[in-house]
Amino acid sequence: TRRTSDDLIQAEAPVLAHNYHPLPVVIARAEGVWVEDVEGRRYLDMLAGYSALNFGHRHPALIEAAHRQLDQLTLTSRAFHHNRLAAFAEDLAELTGQDMVLPMNTGAEAVESGIKVARKWAYDVKGVPADRATVVVASGNFHGRTTTIISFSDDEEARAGFGPYTPGFRTVPYNDLAALEAAIDDTTAAVLIEPIQGEAGVLIPDDGYLAGVRELTTRTGCLFIADEIQSGLGRTGTTLAVDHENVVPDVVLLGKALGGGIVPVSAVAARRDVMSVLGPGQHGSTFGGNPLAAAVGSAVVDLLATGEFQSRAAELGKVLHAGLADLLGHGVTDFRTRGLWAGVDIDPALGTGRTISEHLMDQGILVKDTHGSTIRLAPPLTITEDELTTALATLKRVLHKL
Ligand code: PLP
Repeated sequence: TRRTSDDLIQAEAPVLAHNYHPLPVVIARAEGVWVEDVEGRRYLDMLAGYSALNFGHRHPALIEAAHRQLDQLTLTSRAFHHNRLAAFAEDLAELTGQDMVLPMNTGAEAVESGIKVARKWAYDVKGVPADRATVVVASGNFHGRTTTIISFSDDEEARAGFGPYTPGFRTVPYNDLAALEAAIDDTTAAVLIEPIQGEAGVLIPDDGYLAGVRELTTRTGCLFIADEIQSGLGRTGTTLAVDHENVVPDVVLLGKALGGGIVPVSAVAARRDVMSVLGPGQHGSTFGGNPLAAAVGSAVVDLLATGEFQSRAAELGKVLHAGLADLLGHGVTDFRTRGLWAGVDIDPALGTGRTISEHLMDQGILVKDTHGSTIRLAPPLTITEDELTTALATLKRVLHKL
């Protein structure tokens, strides 16, 4: 007997950790921007796996690359070389404008790895006394869920009850260059920021902030680590979000869409003199850079090399912006967009981000709230203009009815 959506949701509760509160939809199939639940209801996916599905569900070129690789070789560990890794690293170095690549699996691992590289660089190259290195981060950050990463989160829900915390981090307000400059001293290994804060509600810093971080870190002799895990790989209309200010960080962190929505793939990309601080035995991952991940990752880089997805994001981003501007004062109190990425603040009188998300789900549109009354829109970059305007019209109708 086939279990219904309700059966399956109820079956999860006793056996699955309750660390998420998903919308009550059970997805069974997907293609492109559309997903289908077990009863065959169709929904437009306006979240795209928190930007892990920038190329849509099951993009044919990515599925083909995965199939081809499944028939050849899937895992070697890094005990041996394999024939896919050099090309993947070359592709990614070229895409990011960096020299060397450290392949990992999840976003949080890329962040952890970037912090380790920065600390080692501080001791070996900068000459910071042992165990004194600091990393400056921004308030409202989201970089993942590991013990060290939550140590420098200011989200109490994410942090409380998981101490003791890893020391060595300083928090300054986001989008505040003076505060950043004041926090940097001789112990500073790196400044770690999101070029756009996704989980915080798609917060876009003022023009000049990223260039300012670059100038400041260069002048004071510490590394600029850009966490492009959610903002990178086409989402904002450019390959990386830092490209909007023509900035090249010392270290770029990638994840999510790098795995094409098929496998977890993340990476640290860095300048040679920075990445060279790592030697054998000092870092690693059984699955990092595995043949399947490398094949899919290279296929993702190939898609981005066409520039087609970046242009679509930039062009359709104008449609998204115009559609949201039309809702200002009609249920929307404020919004921010860059490319095909939007944080939309809903009038709290109309409901929480959660209830709005549920109403949209009932109308066939999947989104997710970030904090409070803010919802995030981040459709696959393959969405058509018609599909996007339909989603915006549905949002308008839902807000109008509340
Ligand atoms: N960094 C940023 C900016 C993110 O948005 C996320 C996930 O949302 C992460 C890191 C963590 O990635 P993962 O969930 O793959 O560990």
